Amino acid sequence: MIPVRGYAAQDAKSPLAPFQFERREPGPSDVQIEILYCGVCHSDLHQARDEWGGSLYPMVPGHEIIGRVVRVGDQVKKVKVGDMAGVGCLVDSCRTCPSCQEGLEQYCEKGNVQTYNAKAKDGQTLNQGGYSEAIVVDEAFTLKIPENLDPAAAAPLLCAGITTYSPLRHWKVQPGQRVGVVGLGGLGHMGVKLAKAMGAHVTVFSHTDRKKQDAARLGADAVVVSSNQEEMAAQTGRFDFILDTVSAQHDINAYLRLLRRDGHLVLVGAPEKPLDVRPFSLIPTRRSFSGSMIGGIQETQEMLDFCAKHNIVSDIELISIQQVNDAYERLLKGDVKYRFVIDLASLRK
Ligand SMILES: [Zn+2]
Ligand SMILES: [Zn+2]
Repeated sequence: MIPVRGYAAQDAKSPLAPFQFERREPGPSDVQIEILYCGVCHSDLHQARDEWGGSLYPMVPGHEIIGRVVRVGDQVKKVKVGDMAGVGCLVDSCRTCPSCQEGLEQYCEKGNVQTYNAKAKDGQTLNQGGYSEAIVVDEAFTLKIPENLDPAAAAPLLCAGITTYSPLRHWKVQPGQRVGVVGLGGLGHMGVKLAKAMGAHVTVFSHTDRKKQDAARLGADAVVVSSNQEEMAAQTGRFDFILDTVSAQHDINAYLRLLRRDGHLVLVGAPEKPLDVRPFSLIPTRRSFSGSMIGGIQETQEMLDFCAKHNIVSDIELISIQQVNDAYERLLKGDVKYRFVIDLASLRK
């Protein structure tokens, strides 16, 4: 076994604190990665504090992992020692069900295996995430990180990036189409950059006008203040596709009516309580309302290569591991532009 240092939550109430644990020795198809950077996703906080229920402790969060390959099993073909590699939200799946066969491991019908807050396929080992100095992952769930991307700023692509890229691709957003992005946070700012690079005309919906300049800097063509009813009414029936990244309660009908005939509104944020959808927000113009969750491994690689080609990374604030609890508090206030990324060099001091 490999001894590894990290930061863990011991229960729902305690702050994250130094924690020593073990990773498996790399098997024939495994890759060992020295972790350099790990993004801080809002779901890390939800799970560390058991806000979704069923959290497993001790928990080392983190599923936006980038580092150097330091060891590979003798059957590994995808990466070699010295390569920059990444691990996202998934580290395994059944690999045989129809979803897995189609490269949609996130929708594995037997249940995907998540990077942390989950048990490995043996049903016993607790998976631990990227707030740590090393990880061992099967090559099938390892991503190749293009060398032209800044590795710290590329880390959030592994969750925030793929979460927004996958629906834009699945619903075939085309150049010239009108795309709306609701909410300008970790997910939303990636949605803006990616939709823009796909050639769409991008409108950001934000609750206040505070983020107007930032939205323009990120590439948005327009900003609509969602609390302004006149501004919202002027957008009725204009959008081909709306990506809703907001996890706070909000009126979904206010956005559904902005879709043109056959338009799609896709949820990637997860409000806690059910959303009220009026049938006549959908019926008269054959609109659809859907959800989407991260992406498969093949599509995640496609997204990374797309980002390399278009020079897209996340806007980040680099922090030390010792700052992670403060970062969680700031995250709760939306006080980050737009993703915290942990520099794991701070763990090795
Ligand atoms: Zn995430
Ligand atoms: Zn499967």
